[in-house]
Amino acid sequence: MKALVYTRPNEVALQEQPMPAAAPGEVVLQIEAVGICGSDMHAWHGHDPRRKPGLVLGHEFVGRIVESAASGFDTGTRFTGNPLITCGVCEYCVQGRNNLCANRSMVGMTRPGAYAEFMSIPAASLIAMPQDLSARAAALTEPAATAWHAVNLIVRALVRPIHECRVLVIGGGAIGMLSALLLRHLGARKTVLAELNALRRHAVATHANCEVIDPRSTPLTDSSFDVVIDAVGANATRTQAFAAVKPVGVIMHVGLQDWASEVDMRKLTLAEITLLGTYTYTTADLRATVAALAAGAFGDLSWVEERPLAAGQQAFLDLDQGRCAAAKVLLRP
Ligand SMILES: [Zn+2]
Ligand SMILES: [Zn+2]
Repeated sequence: MKALVYTRPNEVALQEQPMPAAAPGEVVLQIEAVGICGSDMHAWHGHDPRRKPGLVLGHEFVGRIVESAASGFDTGTRFTGNPLITCGVCEYCVQGRNNLCANRSMVGMTRPGAYAEFMSIPAASLIAMPQDLSARAAALTEPAATAWHAVNLIVRALVRPIHECRVLVIGGGAIGMLSALLLRHLGARKTVLAELNALRRHAVATHANCEVIDPRSTPLTDSSFDVVIDAVGANATRTQAFAAVKPVGVIMHVGLQDWASEVDMRKLTLAEITLLGTYTYTTADLRATVAALAAGAFGDLSWVEERPLAAGQQAFLDLDQGRCAAAKVLLRP
């Protein structure tokens, strides 16, 4: 089979690889579509010590079972999946917080990913979906579930209903775009999205129908947002988030570019700010997100771009150079 292999920093190459086999409890999927994630970009740059050259990346997938060694998972059935492979028995798994599983591993990191014609995966990680759901919508499940999980955590922390809230989203990548689409669906009073790339600003304004700003020309220092979603997670955006949030507001930290920085503890304390972190999604989030995607909660997804798997290297280059208006590129094997 053909697979797109991460060969060295800034390079993925299409190579011939042996067909995967289904170990007991696993299935082999024929991949229909797979997204390029910010974390795949990070690995492609050579910045992720866990993802080493020789690895097949890709964890935002949809595919059809072609071989099954798990009862109840029949060949021919289409599934999306949870790329986090979790133990099911640790303290976090039994609480339903399997995104925090103490023994988790991951597709496209600790085992070969989905930038390939075929991929094996434990059947327990598969997420059922309507069989007529488009490959595009199904492959968006993982990033959309990240937004879903984050927004649900925000809603629980709010002191006023989301309908009354002004929300600032920092970053117009896939998570920023999907968060803005979800906020529109949930009826947030107003959503403003801040993004540096003009192509991305245009895409968000067109498809998420929200106000977009360039934070270099429109400084965010007026403490006027009930919610700020930092979908970048850099030193500069954390500072922007604290400047923009209202007293009793909520800051949700989703992106993670820089690991450490000063936090405005004075404002956090005196203005009773809630600062939340979020990591991925639970199985329940993924199932709910599939249903939401099928119901059109995230819109028509016409902003998503599809390219052949063989053109993967060019897609990485275009994303890296900021030449891509689409916040999400899907590869089709
Ligand atoms: Zn991802
Ligand atoms: Zn666990």
